[in-house]
Amino acid sequence: MISFLPLGGANDIGASCYYLDVEGTGIVLDSGTHPRKIGLDSLPHFDLIRDKNVDVALISHAHQDHIDSLPYLVQHHPYIRIATTPQTRGVAELTLHNTVNILAEQLKDHLELRPYTHEEIDLLIQSIEWHAYTEQFTVNGYRHNSRDPVTASFHDAGHILGSGGILVEHGGRSIFYTGDINLEQQAIFPGAILPNMKVDVLILECTHGATEDSLFPSRDEEETRLTRSANNILENNGSVLIPVFALGKVQEMLAILWRQMVKGSLAKVDIYTGGVGKKICKVYDRNRFVVPYNDPEFVLDDVPQKDIYDIEQIEDLSRQHCIVLAGSGMMIERTMSFKLAQRWLQDTKSAIFTVGYMDPETPGFRIRHANKGDLIQLTKTSEPQTVRCNIDRFRFSAHSTRGGLLSIVERLNPGMIVLVHGENTSVDWMGYTILKNFPYMKVHGAEVGKQVTLFE
Ligand SMILES: [Zn+2]
Repeated sequence: MISFLPLGGANDIGASCYYLDVEGTGIVLDSGTHPRKIGLDSLPHFDLIRDKNVDVALISHAHQDHIDSLPYLVQHHPYIRIATTPQTRGVAELTLHNTVNILAEQLKDHLELRPYTHEEIDLLIQSIEWHAYTEQFTVNGYRHNSRDPVTASFHDAGHILGSGGILVEHGGRSIFYTGDINLEQQAIFPGAILPNMKVDVLILECTHGATEDSLFPSRDEEETRLTRSANNILENNGSVLIPVFALGKVQEMLAILWRQMVKGSLAKVDIYTGGVGKKICKVYDRNRFVVPYNDPEFVLDDVPQKDIYDIEQIEDLSRQHCIVLAGSGMMIERTMSFKLAQRWLQDTKSAIFTVGYMDPETPGFRIRHANKGDLIQLTKTSEPQTVRCNIDRFRFSAHSTRGGLLSIVERLNPGMIVLVHGENTSVDWMGYTILKNFPYMKVHGAEVGKQVTLFE
């Protein structure tokens, strides 16, 4: 029998974690945390697999909501094998060490969960085995009860460096988990390369299931609009703050800004970056001839950048004429982008540009949906404040549009689909539309704790 049990990230975005039982071999697909939640609440429901076979964890990519609870999974299952792409391993080494410091601060009031340590991360990283895209490897568990082996392989998901959809095969049956996936070209990456086959079961992310494709302008249009808007602010003695994820978005935005500056379209002003995002740029640079890049000659580290910590020393923001790329992407409390946003909000000449997904309960979401003159409250405990700066909204998504998701369904032509990683409205639209277009497919909306039998 092959069964599928969501432990997190089912009808929600955050703490992605799914358990596959393939004839006695226990496979964990991703092990993330919820970016907005703290303590035990932020983890997947590992208790659901406490008494099950847990043999191998396959990690699709190194975003927090797909990998950050891995150290806790290892605490519960110390003999688990962990596999990912070499690029995800390289990035995870930086991001997981970075999380150690954030966790120590966050968990002060949450004694039920102990922060993991740098030593644990060192051991964890050493134990991760890596496999290049499309390389097939065996993942049979200790109590595997079939003669046919279980194999797995990663397939370029076009989302961020190292991201891979995961193909699990056993006895002529195939299950493909997309992880986070993007078919379209971004500034750095050319887009996903799907396995060239029909699969039996597709576990499909639904991030943009509720968003009409027409709301996603072309990347060229969006780059032009961002350039024009930034020039306006910079010419009027303002500065631009762009909150970004350290992994993926910093590198994308840096590539876009530099491309526009080199073309002469965007004013050549100082770009401030820092922290783990800057370190991840070096991992991107090291891999530019290893995995598909649009332009392997482009080196992120060659883009002139100033240190973001210097911004905190500068009192008069408006004379800076600069662009600041600051984490976190959703302006979570106590992060650099949250701190800087408080200053930007007061500066009438400056602007905050939002460029990606915001969880509805984050300060970033409130800022993204505010306009100049509005009164907003960034957190439950903070004082309401008037938005004095400009707010501009852009879409540079690293996820497929819903049209893209449907074309994945069409190309892989599965008999069964399990919808994951989306809010209810997204999952509902995807489910409805798939059944309308492909009535012979069986569709499940994943729910945490609800097991789905994939094969009897
Ligand atoms: Zn992701």
